[in-house]
Amino acid sequence: MERYEKQMLYGEIGIEGQKKLLTKKAVIIGCGALGTVIANNLVRSGIGYIKIVDRDYIEISNLNRQILYDEEDIKENLPKAIAAEKKLKKINSDIEITSLIADVNSVNIEDICKGMDIILDGTDNLQTRYLINDTAIKLNIPWVYGAVIGSSGIVHTIIPHETPCLRCMFPKIPPIGSVETCDTAGVLNMITSIVASMESMEAIKILLNQNENIIKGLQFMDIWTNDYEYIDMKIDENCIACGNNKFEFLELNKEEAVYICGKNSIQINPIQKNISAEKIVQKLKSLNIDVIQNAYFIKFLVEDVQMTLFYDGRAIIKNTDDINRATSLYSRYIGN
Ligand SMILES: [Zn+2]
Repeated sequence: MERYEKQMLYGEIGIEGQKKLLTKKAVIIGCGALGTVIANNLVRSGIGYIKIVDRDYIEISNLNRQILYDEEDIKENLPKAIAAEKKLKKINSDIEITSLIADVNSVNIEDICKGMDIILDGTDNLQTRYLINDTAIKLNIPWVYGAVIGSSGIVHTIIPHETPCLRCMFPKIPPIGSVETCDTAGVLNMITSIVASMESMEAIKILLNQNENIIKGLQFMDIWTNDYEYIDMKIDENCIACGNNKFEFLELNKEEAVYICGKNSIQINPIQKNISAEKIVQKLKSLNIDVIQNAYFIKFLVEDVQMTLFYDGRAIIKNTDDINRATSLYSRYIGN
């Protein structure tokens, strides 16, 4: 308990609070800029059990903000989940830490989240966030949403039926490619660490049943312009997810969503059927990628793979048979 001395001195936590935290279980979905900071915070705070899920490998461009990784991990070609677990165990050997190298999808997400006391969003895409929302409502587990871009970020805490869920606030997922991502707009490590720390703080309040102090609406901030805005949000009684228990993102069969189609080729078929072709082409061009576009598809070569994107959101990714990599490339170059 000695290692928690300083946080136990904080009245809202105390010895009893700390003992409680040591019995709690948290899952962190995505271990990049947000996930590494959340994991670091929660492990050092003594949450009893931490599960980390991530599908990617570490790249040099991650190191400016993904605080658990270093150059050695890249030399060893380690997946993020493994490198994170290794480092976190060195930080706190009193608690249990497990990791999973996986693309979180409609088939595995319920198993991943079952039995957890809280789900933390460390993802970089909307598709997975809508999937987390469905799962959290279905399994009645609180989750904390966090997102960053450039110098701005947003945090919101969802306690099923107590605060508005993601679909109460944004019933429709925006068209693929319509939302800017960190791959084009960039991101600063100061905002990722702030948003991730706010997510961690929300988690601790929830784990201590101090729900009166959580962020019930949308907390927006831009730390370059110093704009901080709180937007009050309300539960939508007609919400498809928390009002009607219909879980569209969870119901999408994974086999339909991503599968190996032929030799060294993967098809991705997202639930959203509308894309913002113009914005996707614009984004690719801004990354200096040559794009072939006709009435049927958008085609481009990137990172040794050929991607063909159809206007219904479906994409064929050639020259890989790694589903995790294909999903990752889709989210990086196409969106969501
Ligand atoms: Zn809702």
